[in-house]
Amino acid sequence: MAHELPALPYDYSALEPTIDAQTMKLHHDMHHGAYVKNLNAALEKYPNLQSKSAEDLIRDLNAVPEDIRAAVRNNGGGHVNHTMFWKIMKPKGGGDPNGPIAEVIKKTFGNFKDFQTKFNEAGVKQFGSGWVWLAGKPSGELQIITTPNQDSPLSQGLFPIFGNDVWEHAYYLKYNNRRPEYLAAWWNVVNWDEVNQRLKTFQSHHEPALAGR
Ligand code: MN
Repeated sequence: MAHELPALPYDYSALEPTIDAQTMKLHHDMHHGAYVKNLNAALEKYPNLQSKSAEDLIRDLNAVPEDIRAAVRNNGGGHVNHTMFWKIMKPKGGGDPNGPIAEVIKKTFGNFKDFQTKFNEAGVKQFGSGWVWLAGKPSGELQIITTPNQDSPLSQGLFPIFGNDVWEHAYYLKYNNRRPEYLAAWWNVVNWDEVNQRLKTFQSHHEPALAGR
C-alpha cells in the first residue's frame, strides 16, 4: 500500500496570524506532498518494503538497501516529521502546557519559560535546514536536540515528543529571515493535548525509568 499525504486537520488559514495560509498550503500540499511522492517512488522496486510503516523504515535505515537509503532517510523522515507537525499544532492552541507534559518539563528543565528559551535557542542555532525537538531517550529522560534536513530522532533511537520545523519553507513568507521571531510565535499554536498523547506513547515504553527518577 502506498504512503499517503494525510489531510490537514484544519483549514490552511486556521493557524493565522502565527502561520499564514499560503505558507500552510505550500508546506502541506507541495513540500509534504513531495516527500510522500518521492518516498513511494524510492520504494517502487522493493515491494517487500512497501508494507512497512514510514516510522519503521527510518527507525532502521541500515535495513534499507543502500541505493535508496538516502531517499528513504530524507523523504520517509520528511513524511513522518510533517505528519507529526500538523497534529501538534491547532488553532487557538498554545498557552502553558497542562497535564503530564507540564510535569516532565518542570522536572527536567525547572520551568516552562526556561525550557522554551532553551528550545528556541537550539532552533535558532541549527545551521541551515532542520528541526528542533523535545526527544525521549531510552532511559526515559527527555532532552532538547536538533537534527539536520529531515532526519528524525527515531533514526537515533530517540522518540520525538514534539518538534518545530526550522526549514525556511516553514516561515520565510511571513517572517523572512527572522527565524527567532517565528520560533517565539510558534508556541501560540502548540496543541498540548496531542503532545500529551505522544508523551503517553513514549512513556508506555519507558515508564519504569521515568518513575524511578
Ligand atoms: Mn517542512
